[in-house]
Amino acid sequence: MIMKEREISLKAIGLEAMLRRLPEHHPRYADIENELRKTRAGENGEKILADVFNKYQFPFEHYIFHDLNMQSTGKFQVDTLFLFQQGAVILEVKNIAGRISFPETQNQLTRTLENGQVDAFECPSVQLERNKMLLEDWFNMHLTPIPIYQAAVFPRPHQQFENLRKDLTLLFPLEIPIFLRRLTSFHSAIDVSELEDIANKIADAHSEFDPFPLSNRFGIQPSELISGVRCAHCGFHGMESIQNGWGCPQCRYVDPHAHIEALLDYFMLLDYRISNKTARQFLRLSDEQKMKRILRRTGIPFEGDRRGRVYISNLELVRKLYAKCRSKVMK
Ligand SMILES: [Zn+2]
Repeated sequence: MIMKEREISLKAIGLEAMLRRLPEHHPRYADIENELRKTRAGENGEKILADVFNKYQFPFEHYIFHDLNMQSTGKFQVDTLFLFQQGAVILEVKNIAGRISFPETQNQLTRTLENGQVDAFECPSVQLERNKMLLEDWFNMHLTPIPIYQAAVFPRPHQQFENLRKDLTLLFPLEIPIFLRRLTSFHSAIDVSELEDIANKIADAHSEFDPFPLSNRFGIQPSELISGVRCAHCGFHGMESIQNGWGCPQCRYVDPHAHIEALLDYFMLLDYRISNKTARQFLRLSDEQKMKRILRRTGIPFEGDRRGRVYISNLELVRKLYAKCRSKVMK
């Protein structure tokens, strides 16, 4: 049973918004592009992992959690946690292109691309050990300790490896069901009702990872970002307020809801808190009353009165605004 599905990663969506609002010559532009590439690769790997569990049915009691964020003696994130009567299994995906090698003396892996370029990455065993320790702490704090197993998943089926580490279980996606079924030959550590109880407690303990605001992480000042309402048709920043919404002075495109993306960008990039004045600056809108109507209609909770009023967003609202933008594009 899948207890927690993978959600769309808002981090990649935020990074894309950042690139749209940052001048290409900005010194951090390439770093953000790189971060976006890494985030997308990780996401694709996690999707392949989630697909294995969508396709395969396990003929025994089990619970699956994708993209789990928990906290015990520290915060930790698990790509997939598989819970069954034999214990818990942590699966971490490493979606890295190229030939992979595990140098014996370092806690790193290197990958060699076809053009000869060599890059180093943290060895998944480090991350797995850390996550195992923190999950063990969580079980000790909340329940009784249960056995924890772990494996790294490399989602590219033709990937080549050198010098595999003996302390690291490495799986291709299709090997995951076989690996998990083999573990069922071990004796049960938990009875079925206890298992359900643990699964519910894990589901309750999850709190979604919040990557925002992104500008802080990259040391980018608000003034460095391009303000304005963006035209979804031609990409121009600076749609003008017209009677029925927004009009693009470049391509004449009219969009009644173009402000939603601009507000979404503000929340993801700069701050969850926005006043009428800062919203008008960012959207380049002089009409205070129109801004008030926009903010009210968007359904963002607020505190304070009149000029001191601040609208306060959160991750859930960002997800809703993003869904609104997407449905707009599809129409
Ligand atoms: Zn346009």
